[in-house]
Amino acid sequence: MAKVKRVYTFGDRKAEGNAGMKNLLGGKGANLAEMNLTGVPVPPGFTITTDVCTEYNELGADKTFDLLKEEVVAAIKNIERIMGSEFGSRDNPCLLSVRSGARVSMPGMMDTVLNLGMNDDAVVGLAKKTENERFAWDSYRRFVQMYGDVVMDLKPQSKEDVDPFEEIIETLKEERDIESDTELTVEDLKLLVERFKAAVKERTNLDFPTDPWEQLWGAIGAVFNSWMNKRAIYYRQINNIPEEWGTAVNVQAWVFGNMGDNSATGVAFTRDAATGENIFNGEYLINAQGEDVVAGVRTPQQITKEGALRWAKLAGVSEEERISRYPSLEEKMPEVYMGLFTIQKKLEDHYGDMQDLEFTIQDGKLWLLQTRNGKRTGAAMVKIAIDLLKEGKIDEKTALLRLEPNKLDELLHPVFDKKALDKAVVVGKGLPASPGAATGRIVFFADEARKYPESILVRIETSPEDLEGMNIARGILTARGGMTSHAAVVARGMGKCCVSGAGNISINYKTRTMNAGDKVFNEGDWISLNGTTGEVYESKIDTIDPQMGGDFGEIMDLAEKYTRMDVRTNADTPKDARAARNFGAKGIGLCRTEHMFFEGDRIKAMREMILAENETDRRNALDKLLPYQREDFEGILEAMHGYGVTIRLLDPPLHEFVPHEDENQMEMAEEMGISIEEVKRKVDSLHEFNPMLGHRGCRLGNTYPEITEMQARAIIEAACNLKKKGIDAKPEIMVPLIGTVEEFNMQEQIIRDVAEEVFKEKNISVDYLVGTMIEIPRAALTADKVAETAEFFSFGTNDLTQMTFGYSRDDAGKFLPVYIQKGILKDDPFQILDQEGVGQLVRLGTERGRAARKDLKVGICGEHGGEPNSVEFCHSVGMDYVSCSPFRVPIARLAAAQANIR
Ligand code: PEP
Ligand code: MG
Repeated sequence: MAKVKRVYTFGDRKAEGNAGMKNLLGGKGANLAEMNLTGVPVPPGFTITTDVCTEYNELGADKTFDLLKEEVVAAIKNIERIMGSEFGSRDNPCLLSVRSGARVSMPGMMDTVLNLGMNDDAVVGLAKKTENERFAWDSYRRFVQMYGDVVMDLKPQSKEDVDPFEEIIETLKEERDIESDTELTVEDLKLLVERFKAAVKERTNLDFPTDPWEQLWGAIGAVFNSWMNKRAIYYRQINNIPEEWGTAVNVQAWVFGNMGDNSATGVAFTRDAATGENIFNGEYLINAQGEDVVAGVRTPQQITKEGALRWAKLAGVSEEERISRYPSLEEKMPEVYMGLFTIQKKLEDHYGDMQDLEFTIQDGKLWLLQTRNGKRTGAAMVKIAIDLLKEGKIDEKTALLRLEPNKLDELLHPVFDKKALDKAVVVGKGLPASPGAATGRIVFFADEARKYPESILVRIETSPEDLEGMNIARGILTARGGMTSHAAVVARGMGKCCVSGAGNISINYKTRTMNAGDKVFNEGDWISLNGTTGEVYESKIDTIDPQMGGDFGEIMDLAEKYTRMDVRTNADTPKDARAARNFGAKGIGLCRTEHMFFEGDRIKAMREMILAENETDRRNALDKLLPYQREDFEGILEAMHGYGVTIRLLDPPLHEFVPHEDENQMEMAEEMGISIEEVKRKVDSLHEFNPMLGHRGCRLGNTYPEITEMQARAIIEAACNLKKKGIDAKPEIMVPLIGTVEEFNMQEQIIRDVAEEVFKEKNISVDYLVGTMIEIPRAALTADKVAETAEFFSFGTNDLTQMTFGYSRDDAGKFLPVYIQKGILKDDPFQILDQEGVGQLVRLGTERGRAARKDLKVGICGEHGGEPNSVEFCHSVGMDYVSCSPFRVPIARLAAAQANIR
């Protein structure tokens, strides 16, 4: 049997892997290999594959490490050879970084260990080699702290706990009466290492490991373990990342950004991740290590001069102060900057997409630590795809495939109403970290984000633990941190409005207050954020719908060019129909008529109809409803003129319409001239144990045919009236919830008889279709019979899911979250179509239906019609259209085009 390769090395412009091996090497590992092949300077190292993560979870650490040992030892030798130093040596030590790297990037979710290999020997060697004792000891204390936190589990477990190492540093600073870490002397740093190790011993009863190999295996194990930590699991859940993927481990020679003033570290983007603007940008810190930039502890400086000027304007920093305290890399180290500029261009061209880079400058030499396709907002995603297309870097199909359909949602969301904004009072200003408008009540802790239906999470800075709360909150405001701080990166990934590093804001977690200038805000107070400008406003600000067009319009035109399926909308009012048409909907796939009965006086007539004792009384009530219905249908058919409008006959759980309160029952009794007892008796008799499977859908029209008569008349009369006005109305009448063809046939007969009657009365006729929903498994199974009479099918996958799983739509919320958490279900089947089970019925129903009627029109109108994965499935089944709510129309259009291209 061929030996399994578990370790892939890279360095010195050679690599065993490449960018195409993301599944095995993780995104970071594959790109480190590729960067070497592209000729970019990368510290040498190796990647342990994602398959080993699975082995690790199955076999445990010891067995897995036995399997790995030989390859890891050889790979370390390779690093030593390239770097000309030795792992664990006293004279010429080589230190390592150990990092996670899954197939897709999960920023900050898993663990990292830096400066690995440090011990009492290596520190001496490093001090000698660099002639910088302070730097060597600072690296040592950082290592003990990080290794202690990550591998030996000393990091705080709850929000009240403090990091024991931070506490030790604070105590020493108090003893020395100093404020900044940089004032600690070499002797202080030595003392810190000693105290750190004592703290480890005290808490774990273990000695801090001095053997570099022991350290290395410990760190590799910790990275694998972190794949299963709580925040990584949550991140996977909200981003639909399967657990089986696992993480790779990347071990690399460590280069030092903290070796003095000729060293630095930073993060850069080849284009603006918030707006998509084609401008190189990023942040760096002199004499610092990578974690200092993202942790938001020091204020990072801009890489380009242009960026620095923009930043200073936003932050209110004078040009004099900017030049002396916050010069750009372009000004500070012009040659290194030019090198970086050339590399970023090369990498973007190589990958054909916006890159997010990490780099370190060690004593004037530039090293690239990472490149990946940068996370971006929805607006940036669209702009970058269109720009790259216009620059000739990608073709139309690639541009469409680059887009994540669900992210378009961000562009469809409200923005602040200009008039309301003019009156709003600005209380602070930070960096425009992630665009959008957000208004909500202040919460200070991520796990309290649900306290108000609309909350704004206000933090000094955020950490990966805050992920869930960030996702729930409407917006995020931080007092510290730059454009690449945790809050900023994560918020952009989520498409959530974020203002970071608002300097004039101070936060007190104990008193749960925020001071902005001279104003004090308490928990629960309203504030508003503009993530596009960085402004923070007091109180609530009204929002309005966004405008379409520009790059967004171009994307939609492209989608139109490459799609096969149409996208319709689910709409019950002319207003929704018009909105959806603006978004490109080509017709209505579902107009639910029951919603129309709740307005004004209609509900009374509706109740009269339901409570009627006999057909005559029911017909009287229906006569009152007819004109309302006709008017509604005229409005909707007119709004969608030229396109098909599928109108569904009444499908109500009846109990939703009848009055349950005494007062309303009394009113009905008077209206109908009967006693309140009579009303109560009738209401009780309508009670159903599972109304979602009760007297619904065509069961109603088949027991009370006069209801179908009235609705059919209203629809056909509306269409005839419009035709007389020269408007092209195309009604498609849909019978809900059939299980047998007889249920359909009986309704169809009524509809066709009424239509003939109306045509005669009005002396005009219109084209119309009669079809059915397929939402009961039996209807799907007997689709060939049904299609003999039905002219179209629309899959009602909400009910079809309910009935195929046997889960009640009303109550599934009680157990579905637990099922998903335990892995019994991968997703909520009411949101993402269960292709394996329910999907079979959809496919089979379509095939059997088309076998009986070749030109059978088939669509979907359940919630799944706007969910990208489900849309792709509908395409594969050969549907003619999907239908979804108006705001999901652009998402479905893009998903439909992508499905056709793939
Ligand atoms: C369905 O069941 O999928 C459907 C669209 O109908 P409703 O949600 O109204 O039951
Ligand atoms: Mg239904």
